Amino acid sequence: MAEHAVVIAGGGPAGMMLAAELALANVDVLVVEQRPDHVLVGSRAGGIHSRTIEVLDQRGVADRFLAEGQAVQAAMFGTTVLDMSDFPTRHPYSLGIWQNKIERIMADWIAELPVRISYGCEVTGFTQDDTGVEVELSDGPPLRAQYLVGCDGGRSTVRKTAGIEFPGWDATKSNLIAEVEVTEEPPQGIRTDAIGVHGLHRMEDGRTVRVVVTERRLGPSTDPTLGDLSEALVAVYGTDFGIHSPIWISRFTDMTRQASAYRSGRVLLAGDAAHVHYPAGGQGLSLGVQDAVNLGWKLAQVVKGTSPESLLDTYRDERHPVAARALRYTMASGLLQRGDERTRALVDVVSELASMDEPRRRLAGIISGLDIRYDLGEGHPLLGRRMPDLDLATADGPLRVFTLLHEAEPVFLNLGEGGGVDVTPWAGRVRMIDAEYVGPWELPIIGAVPAPGAVLIRPDGYVAWVGDGTDTGVGDALATWFGAP
Ligand SMILES: Cc1cc2nc3c(=O)[nH]c(=O)nc-3n(C[C@H](O)[C@H](O)[C@H](O)COP(=O)(O)OP(=O)(O)OC[C@H]3O[C@@H](n4cnc5c(N)ncnc54)[C@H](O)[C@@H]3O)c2cc1C
Repeated sequence: MAEHAVVIAGGGPAGMMLAAELALANVDVLVVEQRPDHVLVGSRAGGIHSRTIEVLDQRGVADRFLAEGQAVQAAMFGTTVLDMSDFPTRHPYSLGIWQNKIERIMADWIAELPVRISYGCEVTGFTQDDTGVEVELSDGPPLRAQYLVGCDGGRSTVRKTAGIEFPGWDATKSNLIAEVEVTEEPPQGIRTDAIGVHGLHRMEDGRTVRVVVTERRLGPSTDPTLGDLSEALVAVYGTDFGIHSPIWISRFTDMTRQASAYRSGRVLLAGDAAHVHYPAGGQGLSLGVQDAVNLGWKLAQVVKGTSPESLLDTYRDERHPVAARALRYTMASGLLQRGDERTRALVDVVSELASMDEPRRRLAGIISGLDIRYDLGEGHPLLGRRMPDLDLATADGPLRVFTLLHEAEPVFLNLGEGGGVDVTPWAGRVRMIDAEYVGPWELPIIGAVPAPGAVLIRPDGYVAWVGDGTDTGVGDALATWFGAP
């Protein structure tokens, strides 16, 4: 039976990101993807938010996405745009880029890494024991893996087979989304009415139109047809614009659910397999990519035996609350997209409030993911928060902090006089850098924070320890996150 350290079910954004993280950590990984290749039919998600751009920047690949997208102020709550151009980050914006482009760029990236992908094959089930997981496939003999990760989307076979509950809220409304050709030129842009929010956009090919239309009644779970789309368009616009030749038609709803556990033994979940919600605010893809970046280095260390299996529990502890919060805000945001008079009155009030500085920053911090703080205890405001991408001066010349994270390794950054902290026992695992930084220390939402003497940065870019000139607690932090010395 073929064996791999990790098998990932699903090669969407979460699965590909996780595969990259494991490959960077030299872990043998196989992705099993049911599609015949990486091509995603239809545009689907419209972009990624600031923290996700940063995460890609931490791996040195953000430029590939920036080159094919458009920087926009698109962090939204309800129908209110939350300008975040004053946030202290190199990427104080969202990136408008269709999901099929995102997936193509990711697929090209992981093709450069030692990632194996088995296309046209489905994970149909699994059984697990104390030493591994036997993964059943639609095509061919089963595989053996130390760990199986379900990145197989909202209807996750892995989640269901693991018996992990998916509590939440049933759908109350549905939208049709499609790319079609038309015989009449439709009005471009967003329209809000008593039914909900609708949008018509001519695609880059100049031929097709992307249609998103709210249905008058919650649609069935069957695949929508051109007839359904026509009916929904006529209800809103009085015409269907002569739609024909659909590239794809799909239906999404405001069903909101989150897996009660992110791990069952040797089986884990990430991305939409762990949480689904209405796309208001456009956070789903970003959440999945960040799940993968949180999980990847932890799983790599457990597979290599550097860390105990309990490190994997921190994945759920850290990422479950982030998604739970996104689900709450998305439900609220989705409600604000209704167009009846009473909701419009509420939207006006919320818009007025959200345009004020503090609420704007707070909401933009949530949507962008820049405000995430993992609970690593009390201490300096940097603890548990993302490390800013500072311009450092080192003996080898200028260096950006994010450049230090390209290999997905932990970094001990000494910004003080040198000496003091002895991290030699972890020298093979943690990269040590002496550097100077003279600029301001500023965090999104929080503002200015005191300059630390040293920081321990995890491979996902979050700060695991902050030094005040002494080495108090550094040994514990190193052992907690990167194994016993
Ligand atoms: C209209 C719309 C707009 C959106 N807009 C945004 C946005 O602007 N920003 C944003 O962040 N998110 C947005 N989203 C959400 C986003 O599309 C998803 O959250 C994202 O695709 C989730 O990524 P994933 O990798 O977890 O799952 P998926 O993208 O669903 O990928 C799962 C993969 O697993 C494969 N698979 C499934 N089952 C199996 C199996 N048993 N075996 C093997 N392979 C399997 C599938 O073929 C697929 O490739 C939007 C969604 C919709 C519908």
